[in-house]
Amino acid sequence: MAFELATSPVQYKPADYKTEAHNDWCPGCGDFGILSSVQLTLADMQIAPHRVVIFSGIGCSSKIPHFVNTYGIHTLHGRSLPFAVGAKLANPDLTVIAAGGDGDGLGIGVGHFVSAGRRNVDFTYILFNNGVYGLTKGQASPTLRFGVKTKSLPQPNINDGVNPLLLALAAGFTFIARGYSYDVKHLRELIRLGIEHKGSAYIDVLQPCPTYNDINTKDWYGGDDRKDPQTGKALPRVYKLNQNGYDPAIGPNTDDAEIQTKLGHFIEKAMEWGERVPVGVFLKNDTVPSYDLRIAERIKNYFDAAPARRTIADAEGKPMADLAGFFEELRVT
Ligand code: SF4
Ligand code: MG
Repeated sequence: MAFELATSPVQYKPADYKTEAHNDWCPGCGDFGILSSVQLTLADMQIAPHRVVIFSGIGCSSKIPHFVNTYGIHTLHGRSLPFAVGAKLANPDLTVIAAGGDGDGLGIGVGHFVSAGRRNVDFTYILFNNGVYGLTKGQASPTLRFGVKTKSLPQPNINDGVNPLLLALAAGFTFIARGYSYDVKHLRELIRLGIEHKGSAYIDVLQPCPTYNDINTKDWYGGDDRKDPQTGKALPRVYKLNQNGYDPAIGPNTDDAEIQTKLGHFIEKAMEWGERVPVGVFLKNDTVPSYDLRIAERIKNYFDAAPARRTIADAEGKPMADLAGFFEELRVT
């Protein structure tokens, strides 16, 4: 499609964020719900496609940039976040999204996860969390819990799983949420809130992999194995945090005692798993300056002179940079 200028009155439809690229995800994969949620959210927010860039690593879910009609970079295994950080700092006008699987982001990429969180760069990271390495035939990923034996494993998992929500908190992410890939209405709302948040947003998405994880399935999340004795209806495990009055907001007026109480609630809910699985916004901390503001404290003209905002050529197309002096410095005499 032809991209329109951001100032034009064009109305973007969800179809404008779709591509013709062949999608080879397995039928029933939770990835589809996350892909739809991203496309619908961008349309909800009317963000012009050329103002969005999606970075991914390697894995089934990391193919997502091929399917969203924005700028997209399918990078290296575990490396979506350094690319996302660099892009946002170079071009503050972009809406930057990083996406990928639990193996990609919390295995080989976990160092970048921690480094990115503590900087609070303004981007949104969507993690497709299915407990397995789907692309390489279902090995246990870093989020699979101890003792769980999926059909793809010869023996129960010998390692314990990392809790991504707790790790995100420890790393310094200032917006932390969890969604469920089969609840697109709720997930698109979470993604919108993550994009709107001024700082690093982490969205953990429970994403069933019907091909390799036969434990945490759509039926399991939907509570098919726990029927109400009265009605015979399934009692879903997934429930929304805000239905129970949970308040994720930390702002300038939240005092220390209240922050401690809220962090206690965060930890309690982040660790809830099994009979009940909470989704929603776990934390929205608006008290930490984003990284661009920290840079602007030191480099006063950063927002005017960010690399992508600099004029690089004159009206005739001649480069503005005069590199003669630079090369003179390098001259070997
Ligand atoms: Fe989805 Fe699993 Fe198939 Fe990968 S292997 S596309 S995660 S169902
Ligand atoms: Mg995975």
